[in-house]
Amino acid sequence: MSTAIDLKAFRRELHAHPEISGEEKETAKRVLAVLNTLKPEELLTEVGGTGILATFGKDEKGPQVMVRCELDALPIQEVNIFSHKSVNKGVSHKCGHDGHAAIMTGLAEKLAADRPAKGRVHLLYQPAEENGAGAEAVLKDPRMKDKHFDLVLALHNLPGYKLGSAVVRKGAFTASVNSMVIKLEGRTSHAAEPEHGINPALAVAEILTGALALQHNVPTEDGLRVVTVVHVDLGTKDYGISAGRAEVHLTVRCWTDAELKKLEQDIEDLSREMAKNHKLDVDINYCFTFKANQNDDTAADLVKEAVIATGHELIRRDHPFKWGEDFGLFTAKYKGCMFGLGAGEDMPALHNPDYDFPDELIPHGVELFEAAVRSFLKT
Ligand SMILES: [Zn+2]
Ligand SMILES: [Zn+2]
Repeated sequence: MSTAIDLKAFRRELHAHPEISGEEKETAKRVLAVLNTLKPEELLTEVGGTGILATFGKDEKGPQVMVRCELDALPIQEVNIFSHKSVNKGVSHKCGHDGHAAIMTGLAEKLAADRPAKGRVHLLYQPAEENGAGAEAVLKDPRMKDKHFDLVLALHNLPGYKLGSAVVRKGAFTASVNSMVIKLEGRTSHAAEPEHGINPALAVAEILTGALALQHNVPTEDGLRVVTVVHVDLGTKDYGISAGRAEVHLTVRCWTDAELKKLEQDIEDLSREMAKNHKLDVDINYCFTFKANQNDDTAADLVKEAVIATGHELIRRDHPFKWGEDFGLFTAKYKGCMFGLGAGEDMPALHNPDYDFPDELIPHGVELFEAAVRSFLKT
């Protein structure tokens, strides 16, 4: 008999040693050290970069379930001073991925103690969720090509909701999100003679005003459109020169991928029109793309049943969350469900510098995942 894993200590160890997206090498090592003691039937490392896929069970023909957690932290300086505070300057676990990984490891322990006789369970510790690159990298890993999953599951902790309550919904769970980079190219001139150059300042002002006017930032309604200005760069700090170039960086989000396409097109049309009016060249690119997380109806029902069967409170939510989640790439490919797990009502919000994943939540996540997975394997 192996001794029980101290999940709280493990979570705190991950919290103290955070790494940003794509650099989760030490985090992966720490996870592997624990997983190795559980002897999964199959263990893949360096999946999509630093990811890990641990498989429990031998039955390749039966139902295949994949459960995902994340490994990465954020480039945010921690302000907490508790003993497990981040030792890495400017980096900290402010999204609770340390807690998600601890939950997953708790699930691994349960599966190791009582291995699935029918079907298999694949536990994916995914890198680089925060920059939207990890899910794609995992799916592109050649070792994932021959894998098929009948069900994919993931959870995200939710500050602001009662600890241990669960938010499960059919359809989209998180918004469709994209980032736009609009580059405007004009011509510099002497600052005394702006009339001899092409200064993009007015076009920038018009694009910002126009793009922000396209918003419908009402998260309790259909037709959500959020336009956020994240960065604007114009000219240089050389006071003898009239600016000749500019960049406008926006994030845009809607409830569905189709609605987002339309919003992007509207902003592109507007930008091209303003550029034309001011005789500027324009170039528009996209990055940090998150597909809307589409929950399958039967998968959402399965999770709801697990929530009720384990005595957790089920919370209805009429609309998705406004943030992006790259688990959407998995639900685009496989039937699945991402759900929310209340982290406590008086908790700092995700990505706030004083956020810390509540250790009391770990057993709730383990119990919910285990109930959903075991119930699916019986089908
Ligand atoms: Zn996050
Ligand atoms: Zn997160």
